[in-house]
Amino acid sequence: MRPRSPPRGGVSALGAARRALTRAASNPVDRVNLLDHDLESLAAYCATLGEKRFRAVQLFRWIHQKGESDFGRMTDLAQSLRDKLAAAAEVRPLRVASEQAAADGTVKWLFDVGGGDAVEAVFIPEDDRGTLCVSSQAGCAVGCRFCATGHQGFSRNLSTGEIVGQLWFAEHHLRRRLGLAAGERAISNVVMMGMGEPLQNYAALLPALRTMLDDHGYGLSRRRVTVSTSGLTRMIERLRRDCPVALAVSLHAPDDALRDQLVPLNRKHDIAALMAACRQYLDAAPRDFITFEYCMLDGVNDSPEQARALVELVRGRAGPVAVPCKLNLIPFNPFPESGLKRSPRERVQAFAKVLQDAGIVTTVRKTRGDDIAAACGQLAGEVQDRTRAARRMTRAPIRIVAVHTP
Ligand code: SAH
Ligand code: SF4
Repeated sequence: MRPRSPPRGGVSALGAARRALTRAASNPVDRVNLLDHDLESLAAYCATLGEKRFRAVQLFRWIHQKGESDFGRMTDLAQSLRDKLAAAAEVRPLRVASEQAAADGTVKWLFDVGGGDAVEAVFIPEDDRGTLCVSSQAGCAVGCRFCATGHQGFSRNLSTGEIVGQLWFAEHHLRRRLGLAAGERAISNVVMMGMGEPLQNYAALLPALRTMLDDHGYGLSRRRVTVSTSGLTRMIERLRRDCPVALAVSLHAPDDALRDQLVPLNRKHDIAALMAACRQYLDAAPRDFITFEYCMLDGVNDSPEQARALVELVRGRAGPVAVPCKLNLIPFNPFPESGLKRSPRERVQAFAKVLQDAGIVTTVRKTRGDDIAAACGQLAGEVQDRTRAARRMTRAPIRIVAVHTP
């Protein structure tokens, strides 16, 4: 499946900033949203205002490190710059439609992004970290059988400002709410595991990732920012070159016959190509393993034979290459339209044991926030299905092909 908006080579940040400025000047309502810019592009925008790069750094720090959106309060910026910004730009926050807190401390926000679309972000506190699960699209066009977002269909890509806006809001809101001291952070990890397929919104994703990593922005380490993908092989290769962060790949099946049915884009990006892309990604990745996610579906992909086939696959005995990996088994979070069931706990444990006995580090993901529908695959926001993906979604029974392992 092709990404919707591939970034075009040769389009300079300066050119983009100039066009944005011209647009804003000709229409005062159409202000430049500074959350749309990573530092390089903000520097290019500031250059169009006749300002030096260090001013962009100051501005970027005010916005992302201090959470400030009022130019008047950015006291170390020259008044002339504050006036120029007030006339043409803004830090456009997302509109919070609702906030829900789960018994386990998980918090879910629903953001209204206009046009009848709303997306969700989830904060998951743990003893040693605070993780924000971020959405990349309103809906998703991939249409995985077991995913509530996939069942809703697809409306549109989020902009960089809307992706970063989730982190901007959550970080500064939580800092205030938790009464954190200056310099303390609420969010230490970001996972692109909310609504949408991040690699199908690559042009907006890339500046968002760069802002998360930038020392003048959120300063997150590459190891603590994870892109989760259903497996667009060419885009995995681009991410490796442009911005290698931690990679999670949603595998869900050890063979093409089953994966074709669970993750429809497998018909174009088959497992062999996926494994090759994963192996190559490790050349640049901040971690020396890929995380494979595997959603445990009762009677579909959870047999001991399938676990053995999975071992063969990642070891390179049933595929083109071996891929150093960790396996993350996700108990399926059911929703009515799926017609699927969660694997019983004993099956998940037996499956995990096969992998662990083969020496593969395997974890079973704790289900967090399921009392507020904030767990994996339950995020569904509100989506105008413009592509009729939901209608095209097949509900035919899943055909299990016998798995043979040596
Ligand atoms: N589109 C990306 C990221 C968003 S989905 C991807 O597919 O990787 C994040 C994770 O939640 C993926 O591993 C996905 O397979 C998993 N998931 C989706 N629906 C689920 C469900 N109903 N129960 C458990 N996990 C689910
Ligand atoms: Fe899209 Fe990921 Fe859900 Fe598949 S699992 S439909 S790729 S969000």
